[in-house]
Amino acid sequence: MARILAIANQKGGVGKTTTAVNLACALAQEGRRVLLVDLDPQGNATMGAGVEKRTAMPTAYQVLLEEADIPASRLRSQRGGFDVIPSNRELAGGEVEMVDMESREYRLKTELAKVAEEYDFVLIDCAPTLNLLTVNAFTAADAVLIPMQCEYYALEGLTDLVATIKKVKVRLNPNIEIDGLLRVMYDPRSTLAQQVAMELKSHFGDKVFDTVIPRNVRLAEAPSHGLPGVVYDPASKGAQAYLELAREVLQRYGMTAASAAAN
Ligand code: ATP
Ligand code: MG
Repeated sequence: MARILAIANQKGGVGKTTTAVNLACALAQEGRRVLLVDLDPQGNATMGAGVEKRTAMPTAYQVLLEEADIPASRLRSQRGGFDVIPSNRELAGGEVEMVDMESREYRLKTELAKVAEEYDFVLIDCAPTLNLLTVNAFTAADAVLIPMQCEYYALEGLTDLVATIKKVKVRLNPNIEIDGLLRVMYDPRSTLAQQVAMELKSHFGDKVFDTVIPRNVRLAEAPSHGLPGVVYDPASKGAQAYLELAREVLQRYGMTAASAAAN
């Protein structure tokens, strides 16, 4: 059964997509079968995986509106080594069109159940909102991974996010957990970043991944080449950090690289 992780934070530009694409690729390099679902009309995860969003069809939009199913909508990120459910701007209208659907919060969950046996991980890249698309992700997910920048306002907005996750837990998905907080775009030369990073760890403890993703220009350059940073420059500090994160994720779930080799 696939472990389903929603990568979410309603703050924009905090590194959700970079984390989704690079963790997908890093887990694939650890021998894991990965599906990346792009649930953001911006389609950045699609492009970052090397899939052309403008011509992609069907997409997450058709999947959510029951016009296509997930098995028929998968594309391959050739260089990334994982599968992708693409998305593009069409999905922006999907949220409104779904409102009248029966079981609208469960659309993604129902579809993912069809391929759960084919993957070890499903990563869902969420848009910077807490709308019905994100609720679909939370309803389907085992856990939410929250990328956070180590800045003064890091915790602002976390309250709303946690409240939404709690509501989903009560109404739609009792299994959902926050797992965990990921410190990203870290600048080790900044005293403030060091302080915030330490405070996050002391306040949230085990909920915070030990791995810290540094600010690294190679991660930012990679999408323009249609490549995950992990492939674009494997030796870069950013790529190395995402590989380390993948190993930490596998360890958390008792799925070490050694057991992958044995499978
Ligand atoms: P949105 O809310 O718009 O979906 P996001 O949370 O998905 O944004 P990203 O698109 O991953 O955020 O990142 C925002 C910008 O920061 C991008 O230009 C990305 O290339 C850059 N970026 C992300 N992580 C890093 C990093 N560790 N080092 C340097 N640049 C980064
Ligand atoms: Mg994004």
